[in-house]
Order: sequence, then structure tokens, then C-alpha cells
Amino acid sequence: MSFIAINKPLLGEEEKKAVDDVLSTGKLTDASLEGGKYVREFEGKVGRLLGAKHVVAVNSGTAALHTTLMALGIRRGDEVVVPSFTFVATANVVLACGAKPVFVDIKKDYNMDQAAFRKALSKRTKAVLPVHLYGYPADMDEIREVAEKRGVAVVEDAAESLGATYKGTQTGKLSDAGCFSMYATKVVTSGEGGAVSTDDDELAERLRLVRNHGMVHGYDSRVLGFNYRLPELNAAIASVQMDKLDGFIKKRKRNAGYLTEKIRSLKGVEFTQTAEDRTHVYYLYTLRLSRKRDAVLKALNSSGIGAAVYFRMPVHKTPLYDRLGFGKKTLRNTEDATGHVVSLPVHPGITDAEMERVADEFVKACAVNL
Ligand SMILES: *Cc1c(COP(=O)(O)O)cnc(C)c1O
Repeated sequence: MSFIAINKPLLGEEEKKAVDDVLSTGKLTDASLEGGKYVREFEGKVGRLLGAKHVVAVNSGTAALHTTLMALGIRRGDEVVVPSFTFVATANVVLACGAKPVFVDIKKDYNMDQAAFRKALSKRTKAVLPVHLYGYPADMDEIREVAEKRGVAVVEDAAESLGATYKGTQTGKLSDAGCFSMYATKVVTSGEGGAVSTDDDELAERLRLVRNHGMVHGYDSRVLGFNYRLPELNAAIASVQMDKLDGFIKKRKRNAGYLTEKIRSLKGVEFTQTAEDRTHVYYLYTLRLSRKRDAVLKALNSSGIGAAVYFRMPVHKTPLYDRLGFGKKTLRNTEDATGHVVSLPVHPGITDAEMERVADEFVKACAVNL
């Protein structure tokens, strides 16, 4: 029986044709400030989905975050408030700007705790970077309210949440800038890729400059930037994938709903409550096991279910951040989550029969271990 991966890109003939189209033009990239045809096509589609004034495509989610912090002028001496229960990129881009990440705890929904954010504010705080973890929107109203009072910029790490909504608004459109990833396993993929959305004209102009070594007409660098351009081949794939986003999310929700129905009565398994005012895109379908998480994980993996743990180590406790002196902080909910969460596959490439296998094997693994 085949192994059911936690996430997998779903590519078809449309993507093949798009790649063929790019190859036949011979224009693999475009180093102008505006970018190439497919980059602009992709940006247009993200902009229309979000209702955002500007979208700037870049070549990874990490580049999206770094470009945004640079365009906001984050630098040495500044502090940026980030969760520790996230992918390391969220904090690394703060270090890349020479600034200091200030790690704060999460709530039961695995997203940033606004009370912790409020307590972490100092006169050096320049930005806050909430993550919509697993594809579930953070408490943006509360976070924004605190930030606005103190003149702190808000940047969303929406790498996992493309298509999710909060009070009717898309994630990535709930702050000064929203950052997306099109990494191979993300909800929409181009292998590697990213995008930033903003309604701020000046910020958009700086984002385009940073993406392109600060060049306007070529070789005339005006500000510090990098080569963060998205290649046309990737943009063409991403553009086709955008047309499929709705279908992808519907399938993820259906698979997640099916799983919840099948395993809701299991003891020792906690489901995350989804609030009425927001939608989950289930980039990851994540449960909390009261005990023996790793035994359940091992049983699932050996029966062909690609269950996985995101994340096993809080960012501030990784060797790099520990060496930099961040490791001593105690973040109770973060550390609890790293020891108890497990995610089950719900990606749109999974058949109904395979979803049944995921549910059955999970029930079995819990019966034996919990
Ligand atoms: C994937 C991801 C990123 C980074 O995106 P890349 O495209 O891999 O650089 C950043 N933050 C979160 C929460 C992510 O899941």
C-alpha cells in the first residue's frame, strides 16, 4: 500500500502547458522593476483574491518576509515580536536585518497571544509578525489594536494560510503587509516561490526595489536589495495553481471534516476549536494528544501514514537561537505544543479510500497507545 504523505503538490496538464509556454518564449526571467509576464499574471491573481492593491512576487516565503522587513526599514537596534512556535524563517529574517526577535507565547489555537505581545513591547519594538499557523488565522483585531496604539508595524506570516479568511477578509490583507510562500508543499505551489501583498503604495515601491537589488533602470542600485525575483517558469506554475486554489481548499476542508467526524470521540485526543469568525484552510490538520504522541506517530508512519510533527522544537530553543542567548526563556504553551501536537494528511491529492485508511490507522494507533 502506498505511503500517504503529509503534503504533496497536485500538478496537472495545465501546469505542464504553462511551463511549455514559458520555454517556447525563451524568456526565463525579467530583471525589470515590474517583472515578467507570468510574474505579473500571478501577482494579479493573488491581488484579486485578496482585494489587495499591490502584490509583489518573490522567490520564496523567506524572501517575502525579508523583503518586507527591509522595505519597512527594520535594522540594528530594532525589535520584532514573533512567535516561537513557527518555522524558523519567521525569526531568521529578523536576524537577517540585524534586529532582535522577541519571542512570545501562543494560545490554545497555536497562534500568537496578544496579551503576550502587549507585554513584550518596548520602545525598540518596530514590528510584530504574527503567523497564521497551520492555515488558521491569528487574532488579528486584537494584535492590530495593540500595534496601532504603539505605532508598531504589523506583518502577517501567511505562508501557510493562502485563502483563509478572518471576519470575511483574506489573511495577508489584515495588516501592513502579508507574506506568502509557494514552497513545494504549500497550499499553492511553484516549487519555490513567495509573494507580498500590501495596500501601501510607497511600501510596494520599496518592495519592488528590494526584490531587484534596488535597481530601477539596471545597474543603478538606489537601496540595499537582493535578487529575490521569481523566475517565469515558477510564476507560470503558480499562476495556474491560483486557478485551482478554491478546489484545493474545498478538498482540504472535506478531508478534515471527514477525519474529525471519524475520530471525534477518541479519548486523549484534543481538537482545535475553530472560531465562527474565521476559516481554516487546513494546510495542516493538527491534533493534540494528551500523552504518547511519539508512539502514535511511529505507529502511523510504520503503517504508511505520513503523520508528522510541526514543530518539535520551539525556534528560540534551536541550537542557533540557544547559542545567541534566546534559549533560556520559558514559553509554556509553546513548549506544551511541541511535545503534544501531531498532524495528519488531508491534502487534496488524497483519495476517499486513502482518507479512510488515515482515519482507521489513527483510531488503531490510539487504541494501542493511549
Ligand atoms: C513555509 C514557511 C515559511 C517560509 O517559506 P519558504 O518559501 O520555505 O521560504 C515561513 N513561515 C512559515 C510559517 C512557513 O510555513
